[in-house]
Amino acid sequence: MKRELLCLVLLTKCFFVTNVSIAQTSTSSGTMAVFTDFPGGSAVVKNIDQERQIIRIVPESNPGRGWEVWWYFRVEGLKVGSTITFEVTSNGFGLPDKAQFSYDNKKWAHIDQAGERKGRTLMIYSQKVIQSTVWLAWGPPFVLSDAEALVKKVTKKPYARSLELARSIEGRSVPAVVVSQKGTASKNRPVIWVQARSHAWESGSSWVGRGFIEWLVSKDPLAESLRKNALIYFVPVLDVDNVESGAGGKQQLPHDHYWDWSASPHFPEVRAAKSKISGFIADKSLKVFMDLHNPGAGNKEVLFFVPAKPLLISSRLQQQDEFFKIAKEEMGGPSGFKGLLGPIGEGWDALKEPACDCWVADESNKAGLDALAVTMETPWNISEGNQSGYLSRGAELGRSIARFVLADKP
Ligand SMILES: [Zn+2]
Repeated sequence: MKRELLCLVLLTKCFFVTNVSIAQTSTSSGTMAVFTDFPGGSAVVKNIDQERQIIRIVPESNPGRGWEVWWYFRVEGLKVGSTITFEVTSNGFGLPDKAQFSYDNKKWAHIDQAGERKGRTLMIYSQKVIQSTVWLAWGPPFVLSDAEALVKKVTKKPYARSLELARSIEGRSVPAVVVSQKGTASKNRPVIWVQARSHAWESGSSWVGRGFIEWLVSKDPLAESLRKNALIYFVPVLDVDNVESGAGGKQQLPHDHYWDWSASPHFPEVRAAKSKISGFIADKSLKVFMDLHNPGAGNKEVLFFVPAKPLLISSRLQQQDEFFKIAKEEMGGPSGFKGLLGPIGEGWDALKEPACDCWVADESNKAGLDALAVTMETPWNISEGNQSGYLSRGAELGRSIARFVLADKP
């Protein structure tokens, strides 16, 4: 989610009641216990009603680390065949109609019934469980180990290699993949840069990214053609520190990753990405820059944000139109792309508004390059806002990019 009302931030600050604690005790038989002691875990237990199997939580408080809307926890000690009720207090971004659950922390599904909304900040979810342990979350988690496993899997292909983009502020390695298959094109291949999780809570964006990169190394002839004609960079998780800590990231201090593309970025991973992309702009090879996000709860269709109006020179508009025409064809279904764009900024101040897509557009314009620079927002509060839906959308994104890039080929 890119640009939302600032007042929502205020909402996130007022959930926390006194005397809350994280229940991380071990469970004795028939006693429920909540755990968040794993990467990405986030929940503060307000209270537990053991008899009626009701758990009341809020996302963890992470002052200065962005919106407190991401929640992800494990419950042990459930009665098999019983129903668990979990009440989540958050703002609208943290309250999907249907939460997601998992029995193995790998395969995730929506709960059977939509939650019951109580006012603007409370949802009551329930789900019958067939095991004594269940993981519950806002959406399918995608943490650093998932990114590492994905990179490992993809780089089994001889034409793919891994790259440590940077070491984060907290010292974590930020993994990336570079794909380029030997083919007729050798020098000055068009560069495609796809990155996810400028905002840590938007886990669906990493799943879309995974769909993209898995498609890219698939047998689809279009993917093969793209691999043989382009140089593709993919970063599955940009804000690894907040993803690992379970913080929301968006509007963190001093600012979040999306807004960090200034002359001196705060985050090492942004500094590294910006440096590489600067090189691709300088040698005029950058063709596509794509920042993956999840939008607000009310968005039910794929939408794109484009750079601010002063940056939309005619050749850029033409490139966007060409890409969007293809994306409309590829991203079908009720939640597909039908041409919806986010609000376009009237003005742009490079010093005050160093957003990644605007920075790429500005630098490209100055270099006489019309590289596509957009943000893709994949809806999450819909039935396709799950692992398989995101993966499919990622593959469609791959096909869209391929057709757009390869259209220039004779
Ligand atoms: Zn976002």
